[in-house]
Amino acid sequence: MTIEHHPEEATLAAYAAGRLDLGQRVALATHLAACPRCREWTRAMESVGGAFVEDGPPSAMAEDALDRAFARLDAPAPPPLARPRETPEAPRELPGFVRRYAFGPWRTVAPRVQMRPILLPEDGPTRVFLLKSAPNMRLLQHEHSGLEMTCVLQGGFRHEGGHFGPGDFDFGDDSVSHQPQVDPGEACLCLVAMQGDLRWKGFWGALARPFVRL
Ligand SMILES: [Zn+2]
Repeated sequence: MTIEHHPEEATLAAYAAGRLDLGQRVALATHLAACPRCREWTRAMESVGGAFVEDGPPSAMAEDALDRAFARLDAPAPPPLARPRETPEAPRELPGFVRRYAFGPWRTVAPRVQMRPILLPEDGPTRVFLLKSAPNMRLLQHEHSGLEMTCVLQGGFRHEGGHFGPGDFDFGDDSVSHQPQVDPGEACLCLVAMQGDLRWKGFWGALARPFVRL
């Protein structure tokens, strides 16, 4: 796996300082699970910023649970009985800490495009879902009203910002409007963390819009 696209350092710093909401942290931790370079950078930041984090408000149990889950990525496995069960049929491309969340059903949101919500244990401004597209698809032109983080788990796509394959991280905000082209030969599976509404354009967009809300 050759990772070419990483989160910006400001985003990694916000993660290390505990300033991201749970949905965004899931997206960042998914990239970190695949990327030794960003993992090392984030660990260094965490050791510098530890005092800041300790002075902050007490974190919710679920966020703390995610921290501990992430800390286990490199740690020896805990005893089997202490381990939450993974969701059956959760894609094996996902890191283990994501597989332990509950998942909603797959839904078709556009021809040959499906999404599956990941049900986080707390409400927040960021929704997280899996997006799966058939090979060669040109996804709907869309723009969004908030931040969007995309982690490629399998396959790949290309848009104006370059090519994105497994492990790559794509960050979009409301200044971005793009139409990704999925690679030929293999379905593309991504984990997406999104704030705000996805605004699909065009006819299919109008049809898909009611299904995109989680
Ligand atoms: Zn990285």
